[in-house]
Amino acid sequence: MPNRLSHKVAIVTGAASGIGLESAILFASEGANVVLADLNIVAADKAVAAIKKEYGSLGIDAIAVKTDVSKEEEVKALVDVAVQTFGRLDIMFNNAGIMHPADDTALNTEERIWDLTMNINVKGVWFGSKYAILAMRANKPDAEKGLQTGGSIINVASFVAIHGCRDSPIGLGSIRRMRVDTASKGAVLALTRELAMTHAREGIRANSLCPCVFKLIPAELYPHPFLNVSGPLKTRTSLMDFLNTPEKRDRRLVHLPLGRFGEAIEQAKAALFCSSLSFSPTVDDHAKQADPTIVASDESSYITGTDFKVDGGLTSCYTTPL
Ligand code: NAD
Repeated sequence: MPNRLSHKVAIVTGAASGIGLESAILFASEGANVVLADLNIVAADKAVAAIKKEYGSLGIDAIAVKTDVSKEEEVKALVDVAVQTFGRLDIMFNNAGIMHPADDTALNTEERIWDLTMNINVKGVWFGSKYAILAMRANKPDAEKGLQTGGSIINVASFVAIHGCRDSPIGLGSIRRMRVDTASKGAVLALTRELAMTHAREGIRANSLCPCVFKLIPAELYPHPFLNVSGPLKTRTSLMDFLNTPEKRDRRLVHLPLGRFGEAIEQAKAALFCSSLSFSPTVDDHAKQADPTIVASDESSYITGTDFKVDGGLTSCYTTPL
């Protein structure tokens, strides 16, 4: 079994569906004890049962905690439960986010949609980061288990935070009309960058993940053994009408250099890379006594403050007409 996260403890928010679900499963498959946080506790519980069934015999454990990430006391309680149950917190994947169906142009969006989106997408990331940092500061190294001080925070933004979008003028209906979502994801990028700078010397890294839309996969076509955890792999994209006709899919694919939509597991793998061992020794630490073997196994130890684009090349591409 791969063990890139062996003995680590990870919280994944929004873990009942999409990127969060895939990440929780992937982290467990790499040896982490995982805490699945979601509003949808029924689906999160099912995911926990499936993870335990698959990996429990290897000593890997999982718990579900009903959490609304926009509520500070619930996020604090989530982190407390994780630390009480597993003894530490190494990875905080602040993934939960919404794109509300009524999120529209600046002219049409209601203030309540703005507040709701900002509360979940931005405040949720702030609260998750805040309590994760407090917990990570208490992490003790354990050379035998390969555990280190500090930790890794990954906050989910979006490609829209770095790339402008507008509605298609070609009569296929609205391809995208998201405005608060975009603003919220821009805030996630800026917040994450500052967290990374502020806490770097504590060995706490923070990176943003910038996904691009991935496809909705029907249950019967999806090869993952956990597929029936929550029925078909529902992501928020399933709520939108982006991709529901071949015409619309083709129109969108024009902008994807890789020529296909991404999948949730591809985002999860990027989160795994950012999660793997977290200690970032300073020059002084090296000079003093840092154990070089710890650094050698650290895949993303020198990466912090980045906007990690996992978007099939979309944000680097200007597509010219034929
Ligand atoms: P999803 O809708 O499949 O899953 C989101 C999960 O978050 C759900 O299980 C939901 O119950 C949970 N959730 C919603 N509000 C919550 C709250 N207040 N507290 C706790 N949990 C809550 O979403 P997804 O498509 O996997 O997206 C995950 C993240 O990726 C989001 O932050 C989203 O904005 C971002 N993103 C997704 C795409 C995409 O194409 N799907 C693109 C760019 C960014």
